[in-house]
Amino acid sequence: MSLAEPSSRLLILTGPSGVGKGTVLQALLARYPQVWLSVSATTRPPRPGERHGRNYFFLDHQTFMNQVARGEFLEWAEFAGHAYGTPAGPIQSRLRDGKTVVLEIEVEGARQVRRRLPTAVQVFLRPPSLAALEERIRARGSDSEDSIARRIARAREELARAEEFDHVILNGDLNRAIAEVDAILQGMMPTSPGREQGPNQSPIKGIKGDGTAGQGRSG
Ligand code: 5GP
Repeated sequence: MSLAEPSSRLLILTGPSGVGKGTVLQALLARYPQVWLSVSATTRPPRPGERHGRNYFFLDHQTFMNQVARGEFLEWAEFAGHAYGTPAGPIQSRLRDGKTVVLEIEVEGARQVRRRLPTAVQVFLRPPSLAALEERIRARGSDSEDSIARRIARAREELARAEEFDHVILNGDLNRAIAEVDAILQGMMPTSPGREQGPNQSPIKGIKGDGTAGQGRSG
């Protein structure tokens, strides 16, 4: 597949909750202004400090499901009792503008994107162990016992699927993980931004909807 294909400028970063996807991306987004982190929609309530439109679009269940019915998500999945989805419209417009787009999503959604856009680059970040993962989730201090238990149970399933993805990166040493994702990202950067796509072409076929952009997720 040619790197000129727009969806080859789409990076999916997946892996269990708490593995450090957000931390790795924060470091990389600071380095590359031409990389845009998609802002997801969720039915999960905001954590302290999270802002609507920046960390997530916080929606009630009905609104979320209406958007699903209208085909506005590139993918969506249930996770730990809540729904999460990637709005397709903003991704289309960023790809059209020649940007590199990053999705930070759980594994089921990543599989959906892979089926839909096979040239998207898929990276699975894995923890050194489940115990280390649990420690990280607890240290974050933002989840109830019930939410921690659900996330760990889900992590077991997700880890079993790691090998489905193009790249599996161990997040044992944070700087090393950042450098490995960085190398992948650099390999995806277009040489002449915006030239690959004619103005009337849609990078993601068969997807409706457009939306507003946020500034990225913190966690
Ligand atoms: P959290 O509740 O900790 O913010 O997110 C829980 C999990 O949902 C994390 O693994 C996160 O990466 C994932 N997630 C966030 N946004 C999306 C999305 O749009 N789609 C999917 N499938 N997963 C998402």
